Amino acid sequence: LGFVTDNCLFCDIGSGRIPADVVTRTDRVLAFRDIAPVAPTHILVIPVEHHRDVAGLVDADPALAAELLAVAAQVGAELEGGYRVVFNTGVDGGQAVFHVHAHVLGGRQLAWPPG
Ligand code: AMP
Repeated sequence: LGFVTDNCLFCDIGSGRIPADVVTRTDRVLAFRDIAPVAPTHILVIPVEHHRDVAGLVDADPALAAELLAVAAQVGAELEGGYRVVFNTGVDGGQAVFHVHAHVLGGRQLAWPPG
């Protein structure tokens, strides 16, 4: 749902209660560096509002989903060799933080298919 939720790490980062290495932001979207990068560039892009996963975000606020993708593409455009945008979704998708976030990965050639 479209509000800030208790006991949510990325709500706390989005609201500034927990610090992050911020790359860029809009009124509603924040991009910050992943604390445990898996590529030379690893940036997370979140809506400040709480939505559980990409499906929940698209259902509730497609304009916000588009804004999040625009910020992800803007961050990725800094990577001359290209980049990957990933939404880990659900347990099998590897989602650990249930506040939707895009991973923007780059800075080296990434393996495909993923593990
Ligand atoms: P996921 O597995 O898709 O839910 O990704 C969660 C990501 O959040 C992981 O890549 C973590 O390294 C990252 N992460 C966890 N805590 C923090 C934090 N305090 N600041 C930045 N990134 C974090």
